[in-house]
Amino acid sequence: MAFSLLNQLRQINRHLVELPCPGCGQNDPQLIWRYDRYFLRVNLSTCRHCSLVYLARGLKGDTQARFYSQLYPRLMRQPPASKAMWNYRLLAGYRFSEISAVVGQCQSVLDIGAGLGFFLDACRAQNYEHYMGLEPGGPQRDHAVQVLGLGEHVRPEELDEHTQLPFAPRLVTLFHVLEHLQEPGKALARIAKLMDPLGWLVIEVPDIEADWPELGLLQVHVSHRSYFSAQTLEALLSANGFHAQHWRREAHGIYEGNLRVYARLNAPATPTVAPLPPQANDIRAHILKQIRPLSLRNGYPRMAWRLARL
Ligand SMILES: [Zn+2]
Repeated sequence: MAFSLLNQLRQINRHLVELPCPGCGQNDPQLIWRYDRYFLRVNLSTCRHCSLVYLARGLKGDTQARFYSQLYPRLMRQPPASKAMWNYRLLAGYRFSEISAVVGQCQSVLDIGAGLGFFLDACRAQNYEHYMGLEPGGPQRDHAVQVLGLGEHVRPEELDEHTQLPFAPRLVTLFHVLEHLQEPGKALARIAKLMDPLGWLVIEVPDIEADWPELGLLQVHVSHRSYFSAQTLEALLSANGFHAQHWRREAHGIYEGNLRVYARLNAPATPTVAPLPPQANDIRAHILKQIRPLSLRNGYPRMAWRLARL
């Protein structure tokens, strides 16, 4: 099993291609770090144009489809074991409580990348009238649909130009989804058209500016295209019709360095304030300091051991 996994990773590595910056579409990377946690040559870089940290090489087309259908569930252990499953359930309850404290009761929700379905399940339990999830991942969706009984409320699809909803959600959530998308700006623009104009968009991403010594090398993952900070996320929101109203940083819990933003649509006449330009060299040094490639706890030796056991 392990041998076939390593072989598949090697094949994926051969088919990685140059990728433009997910933030601005330019192709002007300054290299930070070459290999990801699976030894794939992803070229973690800073965009010289917009300062977003991103993978300058990565998955595309058939290779991407093969990765997500065959490798991702194994690498990420989806569906998780019972103990981890309970952790996801607790996180969803925590998220629901945190988010409700800011946005109130929204009555309608779209959860993009609904995963195992626990957040939607919490919304349903709190009497949301309309709730819909999008989840392309098979094992996760099966859990949401069958185990939690969410049925047709979870669609087997990504957000794209064909997505139509039977309601305009007052709350749209993306928990650890935006960093996976090659064109996150387009996703935000689509959400802007689909949601209630008075609604809330709540996004969670890993915070590259946080401290993540326990993650170390594990932070660099072929499926994470963008490595946002509050500044680069705010720039993306502003460029796509949103403004950030609240930021929340959590050192631990959901993720080591979890960034949550609560955003709303701009009124048509509202001018957007350009955020301060991020300090590209600072972030580069910050990342290099925390990737300890030879660490037995979270460096390459540990990853080799884990891959051999999968
Ligand atoms: Zn860029």
